[in-house]
Amino acid sequence: MNQNKALKHQNNAFKLSFLGAAGTVTGSRTLLQAGGRNLLVDCGLFQGLKNLRLRNCAPFPVDVSGLDAVILTHAHLDHSGYLPRLARLGYAGPILATSATVELARILLLDSAGIQEADAEFLNRHNLSSHKPALPLYTVGDAERVLKQFRKVEFDEWVEVFPGLRARWRSAGHILGAAIVEIDQAGRRIVFSGDLGRYDDAIMDDPTPIERADYLVLESTYGDRLHSDEDPLETLHALISRTVQRGGTVLIPAFAVGRVQLMLWYLYLLRGSARLPANLPIYVDSPMSLNATELYRRNTRMLRHSYSELQGAFQMPRYVRDVQESKSLDISPMPKIIISASGMATGGRVLHHLKHYAPDPRSTILFAGYQAAGTRGAAMVGGAAKVKIHGEYIPVRAEVRNLSMLSAHADSDEIIRWLKGFETAPSHCFLNHGEAQAADTLRLRIKDELGWKVKVVEHLEEFSPQ
Ligand SMILES: [Zn+2]
Repeated sequence: MNQNKALKHQNNAFKLSFLGAAGTVTGSRTLLQAGGRNLLVDCGLFQGLKNLRLRNCAPFPVDVSGLDAVILTHAHLDHSGYLPRLARLGYAGPILATSATVELARILLLDSAGIQEADAEFLNRHNLSSHKPALPLYTVGDAERVLKQFRKVEFDEWVEVFPGLRARWRSAGHILGAAIVEIDQAGRRIVFSGDLGRYDDAIMDDPTPIERADYLVLESTYGDRLHSDEDPLETLHALISRTVQRGGTVLIPAFAVGRVQLMLWYLYLLRGSARLPANLPIYVDSPMSLNATELYRRNTRMLRHSYSELQGAFQMPRYVRDVQESKSLDISPMPKIIISASGMATGGRVLHHLKHYAPDPRSTILFAGYQAAGTRGAAMVGGAAKVKIHGEYIPVRAEVRNLSMLSAHADSDEIIRWLKGFETAPSHCFLNHGEAQAADTLRLRIKDELGWKVKVVEHLEEFSPQ
């Protein structure tokens, strides 16, 4: 039986419903009901802890046939990864996103669908599921279908989504195509920060300042943390040098979109200044990152460097294409650098390398970004003595580091800096996309330092003005 709520079209109603990313950094989905229309802003997968992942399989909280449009801030799966499922449930309307987001979403959604199919097949083959048979959340066919619903928009230009309701995408500096979205309707402005990037990032531009919002929905991923102000080049240099001296390998689990390219840029700078051992091989073992890297060529507008400057970095490593070559990397005892997805070690080829290098005290596992609760990345960064991979407990004896300054997310000070760009305080500021401690710490900072009215949202909470 369908337990989801029917959506009404009421002309003068204004309501925000937080359908995901409340108390967690995944499953971003906010329903905006305004001007008689029902818009979904982001449509992400839940990831990490099992009770969160189970929400992907639960009925969608509202009846999708009542949705009129989906607006996407960026392509990361925690913002886009539920879209094929939404289409499978009957959503046939438009999905509006910047052109780089559309191109990245194609890569990420097809990959995600392949993983969903492979996981279901694995469970069935090993008889591991209570569902007989286990079915994928969606298939490659579902992803291909939903990709046809995408409509490209330009940065900084107002788009009339419906008569009386317009939206504008402003660069967020987080990953290629990532945007802060402003929506105007009936004289009120609603702003969704999406994921905010860092100031002075090595590759991406700063987040665009926003002057005004009546309602602001703000991410809080690093709301309780500051990134280290160590020079990432120095830190990387020291870490690689000591690992190589031990005869070990540096294994870098990295998000295929953004983090792989940033790592390559830093390694390129180190190599250029002769601070990497001359013959130290660098491998990128993530077929998806090869496609993502290609996108940088077509989207230089959001970057600090011209593509020709970045090209040297992107051409430096050896890209591993087939599984056989991927496995053979672990046979050679020579020190090397392997960059491989996924970034939180939740899946992908990096798992095979982790099985090999995590037990090796000479090696280093280097994470480069936020590790969501419940992921192997969070466990290892938290000091876990062993992690479970493919049903087997693997001891962790390697050095484990997380260089959060390489993250694609603004830290607490950077979020506050971005908020200071507002000319007047929003009448309401809602915090989502953060684990409980991070969101609540940021709430206090905003209240005490800016004097704004601010609230941390709860799962399925609704808001409409009095
Ligand atoms: Zn993101």
